[in-house]
Amino acid sequence: MASRVTFIGAGNMASAIIGGMIDNGFSPSAITATSPSDAFLAPVHERFGIHTNTDNAAAVGQADVVVLAVKPQMMRDVCEGLRDVVQRRRPLIISVAAGLPAEALEHWLGGDLAVVRCMPNTPSLVGAGAAGLFANANVSDEQRRLATELLEAVGLVEWVEEESLLDAVTAVSGSGPAYFFLMLEAMEDAGVSLGLPAETARRLAMQTALGAAKMAQQSDKTPAELKRNVMSPGGTTERAIEHLESAGLRRIMGEALEACAARAREMA
Ligand code: NAD
Repeated sequence: MASRVTFIGAGNMASAIIGGMIDNGFSPSAITATSPSDAFLAPVHERFGIHTNTDNAAAVGQADVVVLAVKPQMMRDVCEGLRDVVQRRRPLIISVAAGLPAEALEHWLGGDLAVVRCMPNTPSLVGAGAAGLFANANVSDEQRRLATELLEAVGLVEWVEEESLLDAVTAVSGSGPAYFFLMLEAMEDAGVSLGLPAETARRLAMQTALGAAKMAQQSDKTPAELKRNVMSPGGTTERAIEHLESAGLRRIMGEALEACAARAREMA
């Protein structure tokens, strides 16, 4: 990949993607990260050997791709400060900011630009992310491939063809890690109630979650089939699953994800 990529912001999300790109063979010399303060930039320069710059516009002057990785509340100011250079250079813009519509970003940057909006999640920080991506009408097939390649460096990429579906992505994977953390907490507590030491219960629950997800990913069976395979009639698993079903776990998950998507719509 010969593209030059500039990250505006050098925090958690930018560092995760930069680390993944370099692990995947992307040259550090083609990456620049910016931040107003050298205090943020020195660690990423040392860790990754990439270029750094405290001047956003100067760093965008040579970029083919600009990844906007600042907090959503900073985004308008940052974009307006980049307007002139972006209109001259016309790079692909990728935003990882939660809740900011592609149209707003495009408008703040002066209009008529190729913008990809990405909804990542926190496991990107350990290379096991899941991201939903939306491209506006100005994004070319080649730019889509490029965005896929960059974001796949930290996990799974799924494209959605309507921007509003990013609210559904937020509900499933954006906020999803917290649902599983809650499940891990609950399983640990239940294990402790049954007599296990907390650390033992936690390690068993975590490894079980990891193992179930790996099995589901590697198998050609659906999760429903995999579940049936571990439920022998009259057995222990069947007893637990019957309890979860009759207590309304599916309805609760449906309501929780609906509430999450509704909140994402309100915040846009
Ligand atoms: P962070 O606070 O770790 O990083 C923000 C970075 O922006 C810092 O390096 C800061 O110095 C820099 N910055 C601030 N003002 C700037 C400016 N004017 N110009 C250039 N850089 C500036 O935040 P983060 O967790 O990396 O989040 C970044 C974006 O990623 C947010 O928009 C957030 O919504 C999105 N996101 C993050 C996660 C996550 O797991 N951390 C998940 C989903 C989405």
